[in-house]
Amino acid sequence: MSEGAAKKEEKPRKFQAIRGTRDLLPPETALWNRVERTAHEVFATFGFGEIRVPIFESTDLFARAVGGDTDIVSKEMYTFEDRPVGIPDLTAFTDLGEYVAAVESAIRREEIPNTPVNREAVQTLRKKFDDYAAASEQLKPGFSQGSDKKFETYRSFWYQTHFFAGHVQLGDLLSLRPEATASVCRSYIEHGMNSLPQPVKLYYTGPMFRRERPQKGRYRQFYQIGAEVLEAVRPDAAKQDAAKEIKKDATVDAEVIEMVMTFFDRLELQGVQLDINSIGCRECRPKYVELLRAELLKVKDKLGPDSQRRIETNPLRVLDSKLESEQGIIATLPHIADHLCEECAAHYASVKHQLEMRGVIYRENWRLVRGLDYYVRTTFEITAQGLGSQNAVCGGGRYDGLVELLGGPPTKGIGFAIGEDRLILSLQESGKASAQKGRDVYIAWMGERAHATAIRAAKDLRKAGFSVELPPVEQKFGKALGQADKLGAKYALILGDNEVSEGLWTLKTLADGSQAKYTEPDLLEHLRKQKALSS
Ligand code: ATP
Ligand code: MG
Repeated sequence: MSEGAAKKEEKPRKFQAIRGTRDLLPPETALWNRVERTAHEVFATFGFGEIRVPIFESTDLFARAVGGDTDIVSKEMYTFEDRPVGIPDLTAFTDLGEYVAAVESAIRREEIPNTPVNREAVQTLRKKFDDYAAASEQLKPGFSQGSDKKFETYRSFWYQTHFFAGHVQLGDLLSLRPEATASVCRSYIEHGMNSLPQPVKLYYTGPMFRRERPQKGRYRQFYQIGAEVLEAVRPDAAKQDAAKEIKKDATVDAEVIEMVMTFFDRLELQGVQLDINSIGCRECRPKYVELLRAELLKVKDKLGPDSQRRIETNPLRVLDSKLESEQGIIATLPHIADHLCEECAAHYASVKHQLEMRGVIYRENWRLVRGLDYYVRTTFEITAQGLGSQNAVCGGGRYDGLVELLGGPPTKGIGFAIGEDRLILSLQESGKASAQKGRDVYIAWMGERAHATAIRAAKDLRKAGFSVELPPVEQKFGKALGQADKLGAKYALILGDNEVSEGLWTLKTLADGSQAKYTEPDLLEHLRKQKALSS
């Protein structure tokens, strides 16, 4: 078959959004905008400033901050090798030796990651290649396929060289961000924000990426709105009144929670339920975890395989279990609140008191432990209605010490992340997603003179903030009015030769079909008044 014939038969491939990602379209995007606008407004009233961090970062940053054992890091991240320009992979070389030399020179010039692991990988590659080269020298005199032992050796080294070439890391490992707290902390350190007036209060909005099983309210690209409060620990903090410090932290926690609740309230999110807990600190939590492990071991055979495994790896996560058969057993387990150290107990009591002072209604949930490794003391989660089993719209907590873990100075932190997709779903389900308004004015024009006037009218109306549809071709007035109706326009402005020459424009209110004539300035005034009345 000739190439031309093949081309003719080939149907163009149909592209679809990648599994777990989706397009957000009008009119729904109007709701997304309203939600984000409200976040900007509410967070600003609490003194928060917006931060925009990159969408990808070093994989190590997330591994360190989120925790290597978490589902997020161990299996959900989108990670790729960021190869420097000009370092092609093996397939681009016909000569194996040239490739090995190129890699050696690249690591010397630090064009590819010059880490101990990578240096070792390059050394191994060199050794395998030298073995291979020696074997191929051996082969030269009596090259005979298959039968010759020498050929087997040669072939084995050829494979090994290729295998070890695959072990050399040609670029830095980067990941699409699965969350933003790690990035905000990285940024705090990088920009020396500890020398700004403390605490530093930041919020963000944007997409996050996790390779999870897509379902309602769970996507691979999803959106979060989050905030963080970071505060450098003063060198003299230990000498300060410890009780005062605990109360201050608790107050910050309560205000952050109050801010999220205010935001949800403003959006009229329905069925909002705030759960709080304290998961202790590095002093008291390990003791509780040991106690929990001991208790769980006593009932091990009554638990499912997941929980059995978690007795060893992370007993706290057993409390998270949704398995019906385990609920009775979990109910009898010791509560962390009874095992907090004195400081954590005081902190938790103070958070509750501060929430009450703010009129924030909460429920204590001793089983709330949350997935990320870095939390201490306060954890909280907010659920809303209409979401089925993915009903958490916000998760948050205190993470003192995370900045230090990332190489920064001693710093306290508290923050939250709202799942914007779920927030929107809940608003839609409860009818709080006010429908997108149609156009304000549809301009029905006929004739060239009228067109010129229509263009000017559209410009003036738009400048005054009205949404205007100006059709590009003239239409009979009947058809134009039908079109205006379809677009949900409130008014049709009718401009024909008569209107233009009289200087009196006809405005039709589509809801009731009433019609009136206005001069140009009167029309604008009338529309302004109507708009003010309806908003
Ligand atoms: P979940 O238990 O529902 O998986 P999580 O503990 O993994 O939540 P966080 O990492 O705390 O969630 O993120 C905060 C919020 O982000 C969640 O409460 C949720 O609303 C939202 N979220 C998390 N993962 C997804 C996802 N894959 N798709 C949509 N929203 C998500
Ligand atoms: Mg999750």
